[in-house]
Amino acid sequence: MKIDATSYLSHSKNCRQRFLILHYTAGDFAFSINALTQHNVSAHYVVPTLKTIDPTYLNDELIVYCLVAEQERAWHAGVSAWQDRTNLNDSSIGIEIVNQATDTQFEPYPGEQIQLVIGLCKNILARYPDIVPTNVLGHSDIAVGRKIDPGPLFPWKMLYDNGIGAWYDQDTVKYYQHRFDEKMPTIGEVVGKLNDYGYRHQADHLSLIKTFQMHFRQSNYSGKLDAETAAIAYALVDKYG
Ligand SMILES: [Zn+2]
Repeated sequence: MKIDATSYLSHSKNCRQRFLILHYTAGDFAFSINALTQHNVSAHYVVPTLKTIDPTYLNDELIVYCLVAEQERAWHAGVSAWQDRTNLNDSSIGIEIVNQATDTQFEPYPGEQIQLVIGLCKNILARYPDIVPTNVLGHSDIAVGRKIDPGPLFPWKMLYDNGIGAWYDQDTVKYYQHRFDEKMPTIGEVVGKLNDYGYRHQADHLSLIKTFQMHFRQSNYSGKLDAETAAIAYALVDKYG
């Protein structure tokens, strides 16, 4: 059989990849590679951490490992939703960052590792224009109440400053915060804004607010609604909605 793949090319197409999802592995390199290659979970990329922190990482050089080709579907998101999409394994690229966080203790990400994450994200985003800033997300953002990675120590603002993902404008936040210091919006109104932004959840409001704070207001992620948290939600929708 002969197939001609050059004579008639259609412009009516786009990429399947619409999301970039960031995770932490909650374990060292050896644990992470084993889990992601042998146990019905996977990711497209793994970013190790420094040998000095993680003796199971044996390479002298800090490099990115690709476990699943980008064209294939990796199993990293699980039950997940954002805006009008569910089951984000179908439409995402997943990056697992080696980090030994536990349920009770978060671990800082070393600068060298974050530089590698930034380089990898930039490389991916340059090739997939449909992954818009608001679609660069943490696992927690797309699985509210079920997942907390990459956690409140992940430097989302630094990624934004490098052209990766979404962030609010400080002036807009100040404007809303001033307004909300006078009169707070109701929890229902703020949840409505978070839904407008993209969050989908069946969990309680506390889990949703906490998840949002872990990404966008990391200094206090108690899950309690306050004027600054509300202001950030409104500012994000103003900018990207
Ligand atoms: Zn995850």
